[in-house]
Amino acid sequence: MGIAPRYIWAGCLPLLLAACADASPPTAGVAGRIAAPSGTEAGTGTTCRTASVTLAFDFAGAPSHACAITGERAFELLVAPEHAPPINPSPWYAFRYEAAGDAPVTVTLRYLESGHRYVPKLAGDGGSWREIPADVSADGKVVRLELPAGRGTVAAQEIITPGDAAEDLARWSDLTGGRLFGIGLSHDGQTIRAIRMGRADAPKLVVLLGRQHPPEVTGAIAMEAFVDALAERAAGLGDVQVLVVPMLNPDGVVRGHWRANRGAIELNRDWGDFTQPETRAVAAWLDALPAGVRPVLMVDFHSTGRNLFYVQGDEATPAQQRFLSAWLGGRERAFAGYPFTIEPRNANPGSGTAKNWFFERYAVPSYTYEVADTADRVAAREAARALAISLLAALPTLER
Ligand SMILES: [Zn+2]
Repeated sequence: MGIAPRYIWAGCLPLLLAACADASPPTAGVAGRIAAPSGTEAGTGTTCRTASVTLAFDFAGAPSHACAITGERAFELLVAPEHAPPINPSPWYAFRYEAAGDAPVTVTLRYLESGHRYVPKLAGDGGSWREIPADVSADGKVVRLELPAGRGTVAAQEIITPGDAAEDLARWSDLTGGRLFGIGLSHDGQTIRAIRMGRADAPKLVVLLGRQHPPEVTGAIAMEAFVDALAERAAGLGDVQVLVVPMLNPDGVVRGHWRANRGAIELNRDWGDFTQPETRAVAAWLDALPAGVRPVLMVDFHSTGRNLFYVQGDEATPAQQRFLSAWLGGRERAFAGYPFTIEPRNANPGSGTAKNWFFERYAVPSYTYEVADTADRVAAREAARALAISLLAALPTLER
């Protein structure tokens, strides 16, 4: 009591306060990618260690949490954004731990500039993610986790890295024969990987974007299933081709950012200004399209509090309204476990979102596909697959 935790970024000073806690059993599982850091993608952080416990922030997706040791088996982590406020409250955290002995490990998360948002998830060695109990303070600023001895990775959501996206892209290429390419480089020099599915001279281009916002993992989960379904049907794309850029902000993802890219810019406010290499890469690729190829639709995958689609309001043309009705209309309750709403929003001039820019630049339907943070992962995937299939049937309505 009475000793304020002292946070340091590289190696922690043990304060050696007594720590005692009861282990709580994990709750029901959530589907997700394999958790164990592969070691192939370096993170940026360091470690925080006592004689029996090590916390590490050395893998893709782990922010450089400030860490204080408050006992032999007790730690506090500061969950802080990558740049000064204001910033969207998406308080991402991720760390791995190794604990000798049998007693649980207590990790307290202290949020700066936000309150608790993401239900913590734990993955053991090579295992899948499962939600774990969190003791949240009344003001939402402090969360205490009790972790079982052994080792595991804890994160705000399942960790899906640029390496995972590269695996998805390779699978889609195998399925479709589509060409993989780098559409550009991030600030950190990471390749922003993409695929074109369908004939390169097919006149109608569907653009699918993902992961502008690093913590928005449920959007990535839906996008993966959505593109899987399209890839399986690539032979039938006909006069449609699809550009898929699943990981537009790889630096932010690897560094565990809440919102921004490595340039401290919110990419989904940069469409139009194109001050950042990530957004500029997509715009340059579109500018270089042959004369006969033109975007007909853009869908940008994100996450928020509930499942919804942001679409054009009364600025949409009659053909675009027909397309919306054909694709999403009436399906809001069609998927068990994945109800969604359709939210018409006219563009705010100069807002810099991909949604607004594609609508203004190409006069095509331009939607934001928002998946709830807490969405049932299996239902989100199934709905995404079904919506991908119905998209192909709805596209011809844009011509009439
Ligand atoms: Zn977002």
